[in-house]
Amino acid sequence: MKITFATGNAHKLQEINEIAAGTNIEFVLPPEGFDPVEDGETFEENSLIKAQEAARLSGMMSLADDSGLCVEALNGAPGIHSARYAETAQARIDKLLGVLENIENRRAKFVCVMTLVDADGKVLFQTRGECQGEIAREQSGVNGFGYDPIFLIGNTTMAEMSEEEKNEISHRGRALKEVLEFLNK
Ligand code: IMP
Repeated sequence: MKITFATGNAHKLQEINEIAAGTNIEFVLPPEGFDPVEDGETFEENSLIKAQEAARLSGMMSLADDSGLCVEALNGAPGIHSARYAETAQARIDKLLGVLENIENRRAKFVCVMTLVDADGKVLFQTRGECQGEIAREQSGVNGFGYDPIFLIGNTTMAEMSEEEKNEISHRGRALKEVLEFLNK
């Protein structure tokens, strides 16, 4: 079964297809022109906006994720603004390390909300996956994307993990497992 995955991020598509490997589900990119206005105030709202736009464009069942990094000492920022926190991935990492330079509390979590809608945009299922960790003092590792090089679980950053290791424990992996269980019911 093919399901549109509401993203323009090829890395995310690859990640979720790896998690879904072994099921009969294949996620595909939305048609050209997919550019939803993410003006919701929560991960839940933005994930729904993306899923409905993907369904409208593709005419297929669609799944969206909305994800981000929530830092406890920053009252949950950058949160839903994670992708726009600074211009480039490296600039976002540098900015966060700078803001947290003199802050002892490094606790943070990745959040991922997934919303599955049918071809008409009606919500079939919504779930939230979280992954607890800490913000490192310096970046390390080259795998993954986004904030992975500064997101520590124990002594290892997510960018030092293999794809399989990350998918086992990640916010996206956890949320997607629940979506796959729902689809296989
Ligand atoms: P979204 O595409 O609107 O969900 O944006 C999520 C943003 O949060 C990404 O651009 C990354 O900056 C960050 N993010 C979400 N998930 C991850 C992850 O697994 N690793 C690193 N950064 C992530």
